[in-house]
Amino acid sequence: MLCATGDDEKSLFEKSQEIRAREVGDKVYFRGLIEFSNVCSKDCFYCGIRKSNRNAIRYTLPDVEILDACRFAYENRMGSVVLQSGEISNTAFVNRVDRLIRAIKQLSNNGLGITLSCGEQSAGTYRRWFESGAHRYLLRIETSNESLYKKLHPCDDLHSYSHRIEALNILKKTGYQLGTGVMIGLPFQTVEDLAGDILFFKNLDIDMCGMGPYVEHGDTPLAQYGNLLKTKEKRLALALKMIAVLRIVMPDINIAASTALHSIDPFGREKALTAGANVIMPNLTPSDQKKKYCLYEGKPHLDDDIQAVINEMMKKIESLGFEIGYNQWGDSKHAKKRAAHH
Ligand code: SAH
Repeated sequence: MLCATGDDEKSLFEKSQEIRAREVGDKVYFRGLIEFSNVCSKDCFYCGIRKSNRNAIRYTLPDVEILDACRFAYENRMGSVVLQSGEISNTAFVNRVDRLIRAIKQLSNNGLGITLSCGEQSAGTYRRWFESGAHRYLLRIETSNESLYKKLHPCDDLHSYSHRIEALNILKKTGYQLGTGVMIGLPFQTVEDLAGDILFFKNLDIDMCGMGPYVEHGDTPLAQYGNLLKTKEKRLALALKMIAVLRIVMPDINIAASTALHSIDPFGREKALTAGANVIMPNLTPSDQKKKYCLYEGKPHLDDDIQAVINEMMKKIESLGFEIGYNQWGDSKHAKKRAAHH
């Protein structure tokens, strides 16, 4: 299915739309994305905010700006937020995230759901944040092929494949709704690797998935393999097929229309919704800092007025025939069913 073209590709998308409509309906959930710091202790070869990139200007948003962005999400009826950052695990960072989770719960009368995306942390940290009110966690496996993983990361303890797998298992045991995902169109990545990724998600029994095209960043070691990359059109097409196949294989999970799709096609995320995704994460990071959270090139909407962008996005999504899940946390059906079984 991942190699389908022409009529076969068309049938694939018809099937994924049919399953999406039957299993999760036509609701789209919004999550306000707040990239609250790009300080990072890791050195992933693909990522623009890797520790060794001296050209990255580092920032950490003050609490008041993070909470303002959450209030904005709440007032715009988004129902939930995602706090994402580089990977730091010192006590000050852990305490701060903990304090923020509580403050977000308080400012919204527990109305906002909170998803975290702050990388690998200790079991104790995951537990503490969960007990303070975060209930979903996103940690991409990036690729489920261990030997490809090793080509994309330094060979040390901080970047170990088995630690990442273990972190995913701990998150699940802690009680989080678990999200993971991969990059699509990486140098050295084959279509078999991507098929393996889908099976990996199924095996891990995830609740949510965020995957998007790999997009090069000039100041990273992986940029030297630019000649191995598929065109952006092909990476987009492959990403859409991955979403469609995943919808067929895991009909009741939440699938995000990722931000990276938007950077290679102005309507990439809307196309993803049509292919089977049901979650969108508009970026609420204040624009000066949003520029600095630069994982890859071509990040969109860097100077726009956030309110206008959100209004337009909501209108556009409704015009495509979707219904917006206003004021809802938008947990996946899969997670609800899993909880009912326990
Ligand atoms: N520190 C957190 C958040 C990482 S940024 C963590 O480790 O989970 C979120 C995601 O951006 C990453 O998981 C990765 O899949 C994606 N990303 C990083 N660099 C990218 C690139 N060059 N192209 C596309 N996606 C990229």
